[in-house]
Amino acid sequence: MRNSEKLAFKALQSWFERSARTLPWRENPTPYRVWVSEIMLQQTQVSTVIPYFDRWMRSFPTVKALADAEEAQVLEHWAGLGYYSRARNLHQGAKRLAAGRMPESREEWLEVPGVGPYTAGAICSIALQKPEAIVDGNVERVLARVCCLSRLISQRNPSLSRQKKAQESSYSATLWSLAESWVKAAFELKVKPRVFNQALMELGATLCRPREPLCALCPLAEICQAKKRTQQELFPEPKPKPELIKVQEDCSLVIRREKTSKKSSDEDLFLLLTQAPEGAWRAGLWDLPHDAWLGVNGEPSERGGDARLVINYAVTRHRIRRTTRVVHNSELPPSIQRKIEQELKKNPSRVRWVRWRASDLLPEDVALGAPVRKVLKNFRDGWTIESGHEN
Ligand code: SF4
Repeated sequence: MRNSEKLAFKALQSWFERSARTLPWRENPTPYRVWVSEIMLQQTQVSTVIPYFDRWMRSFPTVKALADAEEAQVLEHWAGLGYYSRARNLHQGAKRLAAGRMPESREEWLEVPGVGPYTAGAICSIALQKPEAIVDGNVERVLARVCCLSRLISQRNPSLSRQKKAQESSYSATLWSLAESWVKAAFELKVKPRVFNQALMELGATLCRPREPLCALCPLAEICQAKKRTQQELFPEPKPKPELIKVQEDCSLVIRREKTSKKSSDEDLFLLLTQAPEGAWRAGLWDLPHDAWLGVNGEPSERGGDARLVINYAVTRHRIRRTTRVVHNSELPPSIQRKIEQELKKNPSRVRWVRWRASDLLPEDVALGAPVRKVLKNFRDGWTIESGHEN
């Protein structure tokens, strides 16, 4: 290892100890707390995660508390974060660990549902102080810039797809082996893996940002090849774009009014909700009935109601256009009303009328995905057309 690298690693340690942001999961970084925070932080911004993490730890402070919780309660604590398989995997993982013991190595953590190489490396280095590598988007940016790592491919030539895949995996392998050699070298210099890995992530998140990195403040500036060549923004090279898949979702917001109090003449408003089955997107969460489930086609005349809302959102590489029409239950064709009655009797745990509470959208025990929340918010606010993305 060159002397300049040793100095840079020590400088990185001092910089982190001076400038690290205070984040709830950095206090008392037990394996459980690091595990939960890292899973929440996948695809989600730090500022969004903080309140979710705090609430989660109040309700499920230990692996055992999480293992003992009902899935509906777990999903309700996740509602709004998106990618709900993460919550289900955490729950499954907690059940497994509560029945045995906490993993103590990267290999053991990799056997826990939903834990991949990044999360295993983060838990082992941050909570267990082992010199294990991590590579996320922030670390990739720092490594790719310091070493001017290239993906080495022409992304425009479609005939190169097999070669592209091979080169993509060799680029990823290079990043991981570089991260591993760095954390091990830092460990020999007595820089703790917890500090070193978090410092790399912090550097990528704050100074080594995608545009206009703040190189003048950077502790790795002396060894950074991209800075030397003034090519910071050329690295990391962009990923080949995945093919996008268009999906159309047609749903109905079926409402029913009912007088439920003898004291007041006001009527309560109820919404029909269905629970997404196993294997579907957002499995276990509550959704508005899809038209295919109701047994209607896209024509408003077939189901009554014509107020229509369109929202657009994304799940991985799917681009989804969701159309929702609002319709009173009594306006539905009799065959559909009968179908709803039958489903309510047949599957009471999966089909429900839920009382509408406009202030917090719905009662707390109903876990809703982001698209439904967006639709209900629009309904409450007067039903305007808009577009948006699920994070
Ligand atoms: S010198 Fe600049 S480009 Fe290089 S690692 Fe530091 S912030 Fe990133």
